[in-house]
Amino acid sequence: MAEKIQAIRGMNDILPDESHQWEFLEHTVRTWLADYGYRNIRMPIVEDTRLFVRSIGEATDIVEKEMYTFTDSLNGDSLTLRPEGTASCLRAVAEHNLLYNTTQRLWYTGPMFRHERPQKGRYRQFHQIGVEALGFNGPDVDAELILMTADLWQRLGLAPYLSLQINTLGSSAERAEHRQALIAYLEQHKDALDEDGQRRLYTNPLRVLDSKTPSMQAICDNAPRLIDFLGEASRRHYDDWRAMLQAVGIAYVENPRLVRGLDYYNLSVFEWVTTELGAQGTVCGGGRYDGLIEQLGSKPAPAVGLAMGVERLMLLLQDKGLLPAAPAPDVYLVNQGAGTGCYALTLAQALRAAGLKVIQHCGEASFKSQFKKADASGARVAVVVGDNELANGQVVVKPLRGDGEQVVVERTAMLAAVTALINR
Ligand code: ATP
Ligand code: MG
Repeated sequence: MAEKIQAIRGMNDILPDESHQWEFLEHTVRTWLADYGYRNIRMPIVEDTRLFVRSIGEATDIVEKEMYTFTDSLNGDSLTLRPEGTASCLRAVAEHNLLYNTTQRLWYTGPMFRHERPQKGRYRQFHQIGVEALGFNGPDVDAELILMTADLWQRLGLAPYLSLQINTLGSSAERAEHRQALIAYLEQHKDALDEDGQRRLYTNPLRVLDSKTPSMQAICDNAPRLIDFLGEASRRHYDDWRAMLQAVGIAYVENPRLVRGLDYYNLSVFEWVTTELGAQGTVCGGGRYDGLIEQLGSKPAPAVGLAMGVERLMLLLQDKGLLPAAPAPDVYLVNQGAGTGCYALTLAQALRAAGLKVIQHCGEASFKSQFKKADASGARVAVVVGDNELANGQVVVKPLRGDGEQVVVERTAMLAAVTALINR
């Protein structure tokens, strides 16, 4: 036998026994986003590498070591499988002038690619649902994003397992000032920093504070705080955002260490986290990125958005038993005898035209084995045709669940007999 070729490590198939659960989540999410006036946008999966380097930032984990970058062998261009959606979305917005004299509420979903060590809740191809509100200064729209995600958790039954952390990153000028103070402080403790910390001291000192190394916690705790460097406008944005969250009854925890892994954020940042998924506890993260569109060569415009990890949401939904059972057909069409297959095809179409879900048995098999399959399918009703039914233009309608009698009816009475059993 030929050698089997396997999927790439960290890139998963979603098999039919699970895919209906994804469809349930996708359906819930689509309805939810429509309720808030967000419109779908679909971007390519591959982009010019420079897009991500310029927007996400050179000294971030993603650009430093997680991107799938390759050379287009036809023309030598450097291309990258998208590691996230915001950069692509804003590239599309800029390219098509979608913010000309207007605002946009947009969302997208699809696979993202990051070369990380695969583990539960962390994969190399994973899926995000991204939401972007463009052209709004906030903080009302920042609060809207939080309120709507809280609503989604309610709809999914996840609200008890998720908590909200928020922070502000100020303006880029305030961050630059804080950065200087932070570098000076970290230089004093240079010997105590781990390898990542030493490497990032000058390139991305804020990320040093995000370290999970226990021996560095005290240093991180006592570092100069960005909040002390905020000017009047940034402070007000944060105050107003928090006041709105309080007014609409959203509980949050302020986490001054929350910096997010991408460079483009400013002002509001937030994460929805759970303690139920081990180290991969961040289910949804987002924030404001007012400078990004201009960085991509467009007229400046304020922007705020979020992304949630679909696999992590699915793990949580599965763990808590919040997913629906696999959908079953209404009718299983059993047929045996020469010419009954063709008769069954027309009967099945008539039932489907009336809105029923029908699986027709295909291929030669005994009645016994067909009824086994009919049972296993979860169908409520079997429609059965053999030589007699074909000859007489009749069908047998048989209940597969609950009680009720099997009946033989004219073909024209089939739908009424089937619906009578289904609605019982
Ligand atoms: P983490 O700190 O867990 O690495 P991140 O800050 O890199 O997350 P973001 O770039 O903010 O993640 O992406 C938004 C969301 O996408 C995350 O909160 C998470 O739910 C999901 N996500 C990110 N990376 C992965 C991955 N490799 N596999 C599965 N989901 C992921
Ligand atoms: Mg990451």
